Amino acid sequence: MPATAIYPGTFDPITLGHQDIIRRARNLFAEVLVAVATSQHKTTLFNVEERVALAQQVLAGQSNVAVCRFDCLVVELARRRRAHVIVRGLRAVLDFDYEFQMAIMNQRLNTDVETVFLTPSERYCSLSSSLIKEIAALSGDISSFVHDRVNEALRAKLGKA
Ligand code: ADP
Repeated sequence: MPATAIYPGTFDPITLGHQDIIRRARNLFAEVLVAVATSQHKTTLFNVEERVALAQQVLAGQSNVAVCRFDCLVVELARRRRAHVIVRGLRAVLDFDYEFQMAIMNQRLNTDVETVFLTPSERYCSLSSSLIKEIAALSGDISSFVHDRVNEALRAKLGKA
């Protein structure tokens, strides 16, 4: 039984869709490591320290979940942590091409690591961090898509507090 599964992503910011995937992964693996990408090549609203802190806050108290940041290949992180599973979320067909390409590439880079896809509850299938940021920027109600702490942080960041 694989002990640790790594759930990598940008988490800009973490949403209830991400949390749904984490909940499912916790039922399957002894430990889930939520790995927040530094994302030097991607412009993010929250810097990596903020993204890690938000993930830690919303996941606080969950015994088998840890949060870290990383700036290397996911397979390299897996090697360092002795993990053999990468978890990714699949919301719809739209995610498939990109996720499939990544999984195949990661297989080539490290044959000891398998990618496992989990699907969230239907209500989170059309949810993404980008959409949340757009709605929040236009003062829309995002309270049913993100934890209260993330809602507050978004309002503060976007000057809507
Ligand atoms: P990345 O930039 O690596 O795609 P994200 O933070 O956007 O980082 O997503 C991390 C993972 O979580 C990806 O596998 C993505 O498909 C998945 N994901 C994002 N939003 C949701 C959601 N609402 N439901 C399920 N999975 C999701």
